[in-house]
Order: sequence, then structure tokens, then C-alpha cells
Amino acid sequence: NMINWHEDIRKQFPALSQRLENTKLCYLDTAATSQKPQIVIDAMQHFYQQDNANVHRAAHTLSARATTQYEAVRHKVRQFIKAARFDEIIFTHGTTESINMVAYGLSACLATGDIILIDTAAHHANIVPWQELAKRTGAVIKPIPLDEHCHIDMAAYNELLALKPKVVALCHVSNALGTLNPVKDLVTKAKQQGALTLVDGAQAIAHMTVDVSDLDCDFYVFSGHKMYGPTGVGILYGRFEALDRLLPMMTGGEMIKTVSFDATQFGDLPNRLEAGTPPIAEVIGLGAAIDFIEGLPRERVQIHEQQLLQYLQQQLLQLGDISLYGVQTDNNTNVGAVAFNLANEHHQDVGILLDQQGVAVRCGHHCAMPLMHSLSLQGCCRASIGVYTHQGDIDQFIAALKEVKALLL
Ligand code: PMP
Repeated sequence: NMINWHEDIRKQFPALSQRLENTKLCYLDTAATSQKPQIVIDAMQHFYQQDNANVHRAAHTLSARATTQYEAVRHKVRQFIKAARFDEIIFTHGTTESINMVAYGLSACLATGDIILIDTAAHHANIVPWQELAKRTGAVIKPIPLDEHCHIDMAAYNELLALKPKVVALCHVSNALGTLNPVKDLVTKAKQQGALTLVDGAQAIAHMTVDVSDLDCDFYVFSGHKMYGPTGVGILYGRFEALDRLLPMMTGGEMIKTVSFDATQFGDLPNRLEAGTPPIAEVIGLGAAIDFIEGLPRERVQIHEQQLLQYLQQQLLQLGDISLYGVQTDNNTNVGAVAFNLANEHHQDVGILLDQQGVAVRCGHHCAMPLMHSLSLQGCCRASIGVYTHQGDIDQFIAALKEVKALLL
């Protein structure tokens, strides 16, 4: 039974059953951060209650337990994204830190005039660290233009690749629009021209199976908190040779072989890129989130999310006076999110009025100001879904938006 199947999943998220004032909570802000299933909350609580100790440093029992659990998650992540080696998986504090580590780490690999290509739809986390790298090295940033459907303009991309860029930074799924990039094809083309490739998977990882060996990118990054795990932990995957070239952005304990006042010798991967005490409980929570995802009927979930998103788009269009962005109704490849505006109303006003009816959406530039600029927008509203979203959420949202429309138009 379709309904029971899905309600069993939804029930695992305690935050979703609450009421706000006199309405049900309608959480359509999963792209900003997902809610957490009980299994993740329990794993972190259990760690603090029973096993809390620092990793790697001591011979005692609790430290051994903490280290075993922490390192087990590294193997779990390796297998989850199909990386070739466990030491290609680096624990960070999130996508932002992961990209900063790559951009900083390449400081000695770029020179004046080298070209860095960046997806126009990129999140600021996949723009600003590259601008800083460009400042340090004299490299030049070139945005990859989008076509009228907000997808990468392939002709323009091919022309830019002919300039032999050193780095190509892409998003897998745009956080602002939910548009999906054909990353495998984009990466293959970039590699043919000798570029290093980074794929920001923050908005893809919870919604689809990711296989980094198949994508063949040099770097793939994501955050735990957008995939039903805790905040404060993220992943930097790097192909071993690419990762091994990075200068460590952070130095200190854990990442060394030997230290003296004359010379310090850095350790091997993965430790070399994990200075200091890592987010241990969060890593363990991420491991539980992977167990949760792997326990899902993933194909069914993907179909469920696709159907919900299409229903959401149809309902928005039926409501009228709605502009959708990055949606191609004849070729629906959007993932997780729909971006819209209500007539000429300010997105912030719409968001506040929706909140009064229990509906949580995000309004603003979505940390993608260059993308908003390319669409000639100040901002927009974004409704985003996750595994737990059901049709009742969409219906509540549309009913609330109808009220907002009646009020404002
Ligand atoms: N990239 C994308 C595509 C994102 O959606 C986000 C989060 N909104 C980030 C990067 C930054 O992730 P974090 O804030 O977890 O570091």
C-alpha cells in the first residue's frame, strides 16, 4: 500500500508531527536543511551517553570505541558514493569547508592567467573560494553561461573548454532552482581538456544515487545536514592523486607524522586533511543517516519525489499569477525544489504570509546572486521536498498560497 509505505518513513521524523499555533507544520525547506530521522538522533545521543572520547589518540576503551565508529563511517561513505579507496574520503564540517579546502589546496597549482570555469547556477560556496584562489594566484574566473531553460549552455561551455581551463567547478543540482546538470558529460568534456573538476553535490546526494567512480570527477563535496544527517559534518571526496596534491588549509594536531621546531612532516591521507579534533558525534550521526537512506526503497522514493515535484509545479501553474524558474515542463528533470514568484509581489512578503499558515519555504537569493542576476531577479521563493514530504504538504502549501494571493493581489 503506497500510503502506508510512505507514512512509515514519515513517522521516523519526530519534528514533522508538531503543530505550530493552530496549523500543521508544512516543512518545504528541505533544501536548506533536512529534518532528521530518529535513528540519527539516537545514534548521536548514544555516542554521547556511552562512547564519548576523542579519536585516534588514546589506548583506552572509550577512545577505541569512538575511533572504530568514526573510521567505520569513512568506509560507509566510501561505499555509499562508490569511491575507490577509503583514504579518498575526508571528513569536513560541510560543503563550504570542503570547497574552501580544495580551492586553498590548489594555491600552488595555479598561475597568472590560468582559467577557472564556474557554473552560473553555483552556490556562493562554490564561487567565493575560487575568487579568493584567483586573487592569490592571478587566475581568472569565467562563468559558464546558462541557456533559456537555466541549464548550462553547451555551445558556450565547449568554447570555454577550448581555452584549456585549469579548474571546472559545477553544481550537480542547483539549490536555487532544482535544475539537474548532466555532470558526467560535463566532467568528461572538462577532463578531455585537462581541467580538474569539482562537483558540488549538496543538493543531489539525498535525492539520487551518486557514483563518483562513474562520474569520474576529481572532487565531489556534500553536507551531512542536507541528507537527513546532523549539521557540522560534510564530505570532501577526492580522487587520490588529486587529493594528495592539495596543500592542507588547516594544520596542527592529527595531520602530522613528526613535528620539531626545525621541520614538520605532514602525515598521509586522510589524516593530512583532518587537522584537530573532528566532529566525532556528527560523523557517527552521518553514518546513521547513510544507514537510513540505504534502508529506503530508493527507486520508489525517487519516483515519489518526482511525482510530488510535478504535482507541485502543476498546482502552482493552476493557481495562476505564478512565475516558475528553471522548469521545462516538457522535459522535467528538476530535483528536490521549485523556484517561483507570485505576480510582482516581493518574495519576502510571500514567505512571511505563508509562515503564518504553518508553511516553511525559503525566500531570497538562495546564496546564488549571480544566478538571480542572470534571471533579472532580486530573489524568489523556493519550495523544496524530501523523502518525508507527502501530498498533504503540497495541498496545505497551495491552499495557503491561495490565501496569500487573495490577500495581496
Ligand atoms: N552548495 C549548495 C548547492 C548548497 O545548497 C549549499 C547549502 N545551501 C552549500 C553549497 C553550502 O553548504 P553548507 O552550508 O552545508 O556548507
